[in-house]
Amino acid sequence: MVLRNEKMRFSSKTIKGLISFVLFVTIVGALAGCTDPYAPKIVSPVATTTEVIGHSVQGRPIECHRFGSGPETILFLASIHGSEPAGTPLMWKLIDQIQKDRRLLNGRTILVIPVANPDGYAARIRENVNEVDLNRNFPADNRINITEYGTRPLSEPESKALYDLIQQSRPARVVSIHQPLKCIDYDGPGQAIAENMGRVMPLPVTKLGARPGSMGAYVGETLGIPIITVELLATDHRLTADELWARYGRGLVAAIVYPEVLY
Ligand SMILES: [Zn+2]
Repeated sequence: MVLRNEKMRFSSKTIKGLISFVLFVTIVGALAGCTDPYAPKIVSPVATTTEVIGHSVQGRPIECHRFGSGPETILFLASIHGSEPAGTPLMWKLIDQIQKDRRLLNGRTILVIPVANPDGYAARIRENVNEVDLNRNFPADNRINITEYGTRPLSEPESKALYDLIQQSRPARVVSIHQPLKCIDYDGPGQAIAENMGRVMPLPVTKLGARPGSMGAYVGETLGIPIITVELLATDHRLTADELWARYGRGLVAAIVYPEVLY
């Protein structure tokens, strides 16, 4: 008899517990807006979309983060060479900054690609997994058809995705982050923008010259769009994202607000 009572007490406890659990889940669901598809959505202060502009040879997505909708488009990208990864956390910090400081979007659309060569970035190799240097695979006037640059222009899905984005978005300027040559390089009509960045960035402005079939050669020399190649230090991948931003962030902002500097 005692045993039976205990059993009954246990089962009524279990039922109460179940009811409380169901109530809890319902309340949390309602608070999260799951139960009401017409509930107003909380809109981020900066309109942002993340687009997958293509896939790598191994199927990794190439993500492009889009901010704003102004007529002047500025494209940033990092890690087209996977063995030069320091630019990627810098791009994450740039995304944070664009979301914090709406002045950056005055009249502008900003596109940010943190990892242009996802397979190379994952394996920390310069090329993609076909052993092609993506930054020699563009249809620039100075391109050379050799195996390590791709046997034809845009033979690689990663460079084709970047090419398509440039064709569609027609950026006013492009900034690509590399290592380890310690300078702000430019191609095409990019000197004044590079110098504006150099006012607030601890790197000298140095003209390296357009490499055959590089994005710099294609965008700068063939299309005539200013392109800045920021070459960070060899050791910069050891820095945290915050340290990278403290060192180079103002220069990236200066590329956005050219010919001004904000901070
Ligand atoms: Zn590089």
